[in-house]
Amino acid sequence: MKTRADAIALDGDDPLARLRDRFTLTPDVIYLDGNSLGVPPAAAAARAQAVIAQEWTEGLIRSWNAAGWFALPRRLGDKLAPLVGAAKDEIVVTDTISVNLFKLLSAALKMAHDRDPSRRVIVSERANFPTDLYIAQGLIEQLDRGYSLRLVDDPADLPDAIDEDTAVAMITHVNYRTGYMHDMAALTQIIQRAGALALWDLAHSAGAVPVDLNGVHADFAVGCTYKYLNGGPGSPAFAWVAKRHQDALAQPLSGWWGHAAPFEMNPVYAPGQGIGRFLCGTQPIVSMSLVEAGLDVFLETDMQTIRRKSLALTDAFIALVEARCGGHPLTLVTPRAHTQRGSHVSIEHPHGYEVMQALIARGVIGDYREPRVLRFGFTPLYTRFVDVWDAVETLRDVLDTEAWRAPEFAARHSVT
Ligand SMILES: *Cc1c(COP(=O)(O)O)cnc(C)c1O
Repeated sequence: MKTRADAIALDGDDPLARLRDRFTLTPDVIYLDGNSLGVPPAAAAARAQAVIAQEWTEGLIRSWNAAGWFALPRRLGDKLAPLVGAAKDEIVVTDTISVNLFKLLSAALKMAHDRDPSRRVIVSERANFPTDLYIAQGLIEQLDRGYSLRLVDDPADLPDAIDEDTAVAMITHVNYRTGYMHDMAALTQIIQRAGALALWDLAHSAGAVPVDLNGVHADFAVGCTYKYLNGGPGSPAFAWVAKRHQDALAQPLSGWWGHAAPFEMNPVYAPGQGIGRFLCGTQPIVSMSLVEAGLDVFLETDMQTIRRKSLALTDAFIALVEARCGGHPLTLVTPRAHTQRGSHVSIEHPHGYEVMQALIARGVIGDYREPRVLRFGFTPLYTRFVDVWDAVETLRDVLDTEAWRAPEFAARHSVT
């Protein structure tokens, strides 16, 4: 891709180009932040209207049955399952990643303890998304049984850090800051050969890269629906538990939605069989209903097609930045190797925050992550090659003209 015309030609040959219409996009905005908050599916507004005007207003409480509200976490879980190599009845859409991590990490530690109480270490990465580490820290304190968190600084050090003391390895598949992607199959095997359990965070993987949870024989996973799955701001997350573990696992948030017979109103908790026991309480039905509009778009394609375009977009972006923004102090943070790259590209600049603010002011929306990282997400369902071209040209101009030095771009907002 050497010219804008090349980019337009690539869009002409793109098998996913037809799916751009399935989203409501803002004119004059190049949105490269679908890794943080996806755009609205075109069907979302009508779906929200139907949930409020028909299911809630007319159906009222009958909708728990008639509109399928009560079954929604499981029905959506089944629809999401093929995107991450899960089976039917292995996923519930519910809660947040943080809450689901609390439930699954706690359950996994109990399972590991029952097998071998001497295993007291949770392995993860210091560069993991902080909430994952915070949840582990909170749980360690709460359990007060001598657990500790062992954090590695380099992904390559993970295999050596997983040993006979490890109870659970809690790993995020694609790193939120660097875009580094682990080899899930190889690492799961290493974790399990060491006698530990593998808990994967798919926040930046679900809908972005092919994942095969059952194929790699993982144990547990969490992920969210508001990033690449386009479920909407704060839409519920998901929890996956391999079928072989479900009935042996006790999760700590033993609320009535996970009970074997919630409407018997029994004073004694008895977990339901299967994935339903990982639910806790009443779900945010309006928000959860919109998740389906995002998932439905994926029914029209497959993860291999999405991956091919994702790599073509990120390859093109990296090559263009290097060709057209040379001479500026930009350092590629994301791995060049396809096997180690998710669907976003991170680039360091000494004034990354200001540069990103200047880009956003010109309608190129990416985001900024501490320290100094410009982050550009590429969602193949709606991002075009011409968007890559135009985004790089805007970046080049912001750098060449030093437009980022304008004082308004230095003011920090509460969400970056
Ligand atoms: C986005 C993200 C989260 C978000 O957690 P919530 O509890 O859903 O807010 C957690 N972990 C990772 C790795 C993420 O990328």
